[in-house]
This record gives sequence, structure tokens and C-alpha cells, in this order.
Amino acid sequence: MKYCRYQSFAGPVYGLVHEAADGWVVTATLDSPWAEEPAVTALPEPMALDDLALLPPVAPGKIVCVGRNYRDHAKELGNDVPAEPLLFWKPTSSLLAPGGTIVRPPVAERVDFEGELAVVIGRRARKLLATDDIAPYIHGFTLANDVTARDLQKKDGQWTRAKGFDTFCPVGPIVDTAFPLSPGISLETHVNGELRQHGSTADFIFDIPTLLAYITAAFTLEPGDLLLTGTPAGVGPLVAGDEVTVSVPGLGRLTNVVADEQG
Ligand code: MG
Repeated sequence: MKYCRYQSFAGPVYGLVHEAADGWVVTATLDSPWAEEPAVTALPEPMALDDLALLPPVAPGKIVCVGRNYRDHAKELGNDVPAEPLLFWKPTSSLLAPGGTIVRPPVAERVDFEGELAVVIGRRARKLLATDDIAPYIHGFTLANDVTARDLQKKDGQWTRAKGFDTFCPVGPIVDTAFPLSPGISLETHVNGELRQHGSTADFIFDIPTLLAYITAAFTLEPGDLLLTGTPAGVGPLVAGDEVTVSVPGLGRLTNVVADEQG
């Protein structure tokens, strides 16, 4: 099942997403994509996904991120390939809807895009083993942009502020609960239509079972929590007026525009 969340006249609703000849459409609303058998209410006519006022399709209690998880990206920043996963958080206040505006704060000189594949946790998970079957713990997959104030990341010595500004976590446009976790998922990021990142999860330093084992050895993951799995090589700065798109075949396109903070 593919679903989105959007603002309707009646308030926020979940929409069931289907592939049509001319792109993705919403054909029905869902009471909850988390129910074992969600109640589906058909719409009078399909609506194009791109025409909807989309919201983040997830409401995580926490957003756990992995730094330097692609070999080529670790190298491009001059870092060693890490021996263990490097974890950090983004606050839920940084979430941004598809189509929303990434706001560059005046204190940051350089604000980078980082296209990422994101895992939506489906079941409470603690102390998993890398050899466990992780499928029951995964609700689905979506896309994220781990927007980063690169100069502040270096200056602060830790990453809380650099990764945590409001609007620095675009997510969506959909969640796919049946997305096949194959070893070579292709991820691209375009800025103003120009290809800037083209990675494959085959380049992961730590695969998802290894990450879940490492994370849940430390703390419990809850349903809805989000795991951002790292970014491939090609990160670069965004300036006001840019349009940035993260895409993975089957998960759609997460597009956001960029503006400088006013006032
Ligand atoms: Mg990242």
C-alpha cells in the first residue's frame, strides 16, 4: 500500500495512492494506515497527488539519523569510513511537508541538501539482533532530505543545531508499506533539474538490519519513528530560489523550494 497525508476541507486525511497512466493519484481516504485493515472511503473521482496540499505522511516521536553511511560520501567530506554507525537526532519540529519551503537561517553560511532513504518503524523494537528478521519492525519506506547547516556542523563540534533548524527535515511524499528492501536501491537528488546525487544502497557501510541492531541496543524504537539512513556523495549548498528533489523509483519525488529567512 502507498499512502500520503494531505489537507482536505475536513482537515488532515490519509490518502490511498495508486499509479495512473499520467502519474500518481489518490483514489480514496484511509482512516488509519496503521490499522490492520484500514477503512477505505472512495473519493468521487481520483485526484492527482501533485495537486494536493500534502503534509508529512508520518508523525514520528523521534527522528534517528545515521551520518556517513555511504562509502563515497564519507570520502568526499574527508572522513574515514566509520567502524560503527554514527548516530544523531533531528527534532520533530524540523519536519517539513512535500512542497514546503526550506528556510535558510541567517546564522548559517552554507545550507546543504542530503537526499536520504527513510525507514518508518512499524513495531516497538529494542535489542534487535542484526540476524533477526526485521521485516515485522518496518512499517514502510519514504524519502527525506537531511538538510544541514554545514558551517555550523563544523563550528559547533556536535550536530544538534546544524541538523535541527525548523524546516530542515522534508519528508514524503508517500509511505510505501510494501516497498521491497532490495540491496541496490537507487537514490537521486536534483537541484533545479540538475542531477547532484546518484547513489545506491549497495554502497551502504551499515545495512538496515545492522543499523536497527545498533540503535535498539541503545534505545527503544516506537511505531512511527523515522530512521534516516544516510546520504550518498554529491552533497552541496542550497541558495534562495533553488528547487531540490529527492527521488527513489517507487517512492516518488520529494520536492521543496528554498528561501532565506525574512526579518
Ligand atoms: Mg544525512
